[in-house]
Amino acid sequence: METISILGSTGSIGRQTIEVAERLGLAITAISANSGAVLIEEQARRVKPRFAALYDEDAAGDLRIRLADTNVKVLSGAEGVIACAMEGDAVLSAISGFAGLRPAMAAIKRGARLALANKETLVSAGAIVMDAVSKYGAELIPVDSEHSAIFQCLQGRLHPPRGERREAAGGDYKILLTCSGGPFRGFTAEQLERVTVADALKNPNWSMGPKITVDSATLMNKGLEFIEAMRLFSVSPERVEVIVHAQSVIHSAVEFADGAVIAQLGVSDMRIPIQYALTYPERVPGLSKRLDLTEIGSLTFEKPDLETFRCLDLAIKCAERDYRAETCECLVLNAANETTVDAFLKEKRKFTEIPHIIENVLGRYSGVRGSSLDELTELDADVRRVTAECI
Ligand code: NDP
Ligand code: MG
Repeated sequence: METISILGSTGSIGRQTIEVAERLGLAITAISANSGAVLIEEQARRVKPRFAALYDEDAAGDLRIRLADTNVKVLSGAEGVIACAMEGDAVLSAISGFAGLRPAMAAIKRGARLALANKETLVSAGAIVMDAVSKYGAELIPVDSEHSAIFQCLQGRLHPPRGERREAAGGDYKILLTCSGGPFRGFTAEQLERVTVADALKNPNWSMGPKITVDSATLMNKGLEFIEAMRLFSVSPERVEVIVHAQSVIHSAVEFADGAVIAQLGVSDMRIPIQYALTYPERVPGLSKRLDLTEIGSLTFEKPDLETFRCLDLAIKCAERDYRAETCECLVLNAANETTVDAFLKEKRKFTEIPHIIENVLGRYSGVRGSSLDELTELDADVRRVTAECI
């Protein structure tokens, strides 16, 4: 592995990926983002990629002027971002939301290593993505810390990951998906009523982009990760259990048929799973602090409160329905969530209204199906329109 392309380079994961790639001595041949021309200009001057792309055409025009004195080729629009996915031995996708789907598919279709942080891609189109991984012999390595942990716990079971995962994953194990509980762990429904955007943007253990930070507060993030785990490791929903573990030291665990449990532990630093996705199957010294268990002292575990944190419950139910009936309700859940969280961040809706709006939208798409990328893209757009009307 010598070269890498970073999709979503200006975000929380993207910026940390640049640090890791520099540390590993990888050449970053392409970077891309949505509209952040100032930051991507700075990154382009630092890493000297062949391509820098912005999805937003106007912002890309601005970037073209900013980088006129360099050799960096500036690309724009959806095609520009997809062209970046055609670069590099590995593609790290840290785009947020459904927008990451087509670039991820482009990387998979050329058989590249796809280090995937963008969980919404698997939630919305898991079957298509996993089938393409098999068909094109791509390597899909999870970056989400829990899924990286599960992947690490399954080493020796799932090898090689090149397209054989669905068959190899017999599903005779159970995934213990850990969850910090977010900033409102232990809150009552009444206390949640008073939560503000500023409160929701404070995460006790991780520093992340705004959308995933709100998802971590509603526990929708864990719901999306539940679906992500089911898709990535080909297990039924009964074989995924969410466990609240406030310290975020155990990043997840796997219980095997004989009752043995293997867990992966570490400090809360995304540079560890990012690096592992790039060096797999090797391990090399990284940038993060070491875990000091005696400093932590004790680890706690509890069941999630599904009644107060309705988003997690909604996600698990969608996962169950999609698993049994091959419907696309997880896509609906994701699109409704992205639209509603955006409205919450703009202070148009209250925190506690998020699950109500999503539930309402889900009710309108009960049993919905879709099998091609185009059908799913259309459905995603339709759900966003309907959700915006509900808001
Ligand atoms: P951020 O909001 O910090 O960054 C998102 C990035 O995606 C930005 O670079 C943004 O560009 C870019 N982007 C948005 N839309 C497009 C588009 N249409 N085309 C190209 N680029 C686009 O998010 P995070 O880094 O926190 O999260 C990224 C993904 O990783 C999410 O799916 C999240 O769930 C997942 N993840 C994140 C974790 C974390 O610790 N942050 C942990 C585990 C998973 P711009 O800056 O111009 O808007
Ligand atoms: Mg995670």
